[in-house]
Amino acid sequence: MSADFQNSLIEKSLWVATVGAAPDFPVLEGDASCDVAIIGAGILGLSTALHIAARGGSVIVLDAATPGWGGGGRNGGQVNPGLKLDPEELVSHFGPTAGPALAEFATVTADETFETLVKFDIGCDHTRQGWLQLAHAPQAMAGLERRARQWQARGIAVEVLSAGEAQKLSGSAAYAGGILNPKGGSLHPLKLVRGLAQAALTRGARIFRDSRVMKIEQAKGQHSLATARGRVSARRVLVSTDAYTDGLVPGLAQSVLPVSTFQIASEPLSADLARSILPGGQHVSDTHRSLYYFRKDAQGRFLIGGRGAYGPTGAAGAYAELKHVAARIYPALANCQWAYRWGGMVAVTEDHLFHVTEPAPGVLTAIGCNGRGVALSVSLGKRLAEQLITGSPASVPFPVERLRPVALHGLKKAMLPVIAKTYSVLDHLDKGSVLRRKA
Ligand SMILES: Cc1cc2nc3c(=O)[nH]c(=O)nc-3n(C[C@H](O)[C@H](O)[C@H](O)COP(=O)(O)OP(=O)(O)OC[C@H]3O[C@@H](n4cnc5c(N)ncnc54)[C@H](O)[C@@H]3O)c2cc1C
Repeated sequence: MSADFQNSLIEKSLWVATVGAAPDFPVLEGDASCDVAIIGAGILGLSTALHIAARGGSVIVLDAATPGWGGGGRNGGQVNPGLKLDPEELVSHFGPTAGPALAEFATVTADETFETLVKFDIGCDHTRQGWLQLAHAPQAMAGLERRARQWQARGIAVEVLSAGEAQKLSGSAAYAGGILNPKGGSLHPLKLVRGLAQAALTRGARIFRDSRVMKIEQAKGQHSLATARGRVSARRVLVSTDAYTDGLVPGLAQSVLPVSTFQIASEPLSADLARSILPGGQHVSDTHRSLYYFRKDAQGRFLIGGRGAYGPTGAAGAYAELKHVAARIYPALANCQWAYRWGGMVAVTEDHLFHVTEPAPGVLTAIGCNGRGVALSVSLGKRLAEQLITGSPASVPFPVERLRPVALHGLKKAMLPVIAKTYSVLDHLDKGSVLRRKA
């Protein structure tokens, strides 16, 4: 991963353009100490820091760049409850004790995210109109219906939508039906990150920018974290670096595959056009293998994102593809001016699950959002805070596992563009697919 390339991907980011002035985060200089040191100032690191500080704990957050530089400040702002695996898959994967607890956690992540925003008075253009998952082809409905039944069995009123109902809610004739999960919502992700940071600072947390942790050493029950210009001594450590994980913890970067995803956004749409697209203000992800996600923001801009290949050419190709797909879904967007474009990486794991590990006593790692990190991270931060303060793993729903690098990581990483292309071709081949229809 080149930091320069990742920097170039946010030069025209909607979120950077509209977030407002940043708090003045200092660079770590000299020695500091705290109960808990957190490496990575994304949503997970800052939510954890806020919940520790709110309980009176002393916490320091260190970021190699700035808070929100990673996926936390680049994402689509979709607050989607649940994990990549559906509740019954979680139960069969984790067994009768851990499985139901994790399935229960998955259903409350969005609730807890919106509660956190209210509790800590974090304004981030949030709204909660529900999450539409739309079927890109008729054969995708069976999976969505199965998912809806599993959520309904847990008391959540997920609705199954016919093609006509999906069209009414989305304003697009492109989809074969879908489901509506009322728990979902959306927000401005960089305002969320800044809001979490500000709330944590107000409660005594210390947050440092441009302070990459280069080494973690253990001595006399303490951990010593070295940056270029300083050192932090802490009783416990959390590594929350997700797709931007470097070589700090041996094997950690090799436990995830960093997959690129890109977005484009229009200028605010005319009132008529805005009313015809997602009139109820829901946000969407669809069922393509290489999925597309879209919504309007608080100012009526249209945003659409999808997976793409690495490198500058990959980014240019991905932006062009997104414009094309937007016009397939909403023909009225064919001549739209796209003012913003940006991208970043999501950490994908082979089992599509998030993983918590403890590579050394008192050092926790928590990475692998699989593109579903907003609600997961806000909500998990509260539980990780409890564990980091008390040392008891009982509060975190994920089992603490052995760190397992992906076999043939280098080869699989090199194959990602090929896999993305294959998915895209298969999506185009699906009978009745959105992508096969004429715009
Ligand atoms: C374009 C895009 C769209 C997405 N859309 C959605 C969405 O709509 N909904 C959703 O739920 N999820 C979405 N995701 C995923 C979601 O953003 C991420 O899962 C989540 O934000 C990542 O977790 P985080 O915020 O804790 O980490 P990040 O924000 O990625 O933070 C990691 C930080 O670690 C720092 N770091 C790395 N190494 C070190 C070191 N050695 N020392 C100090 N600091 C270090 C980095 O500088 C970085 O700031 C999207 C992701 C992307 C990229």
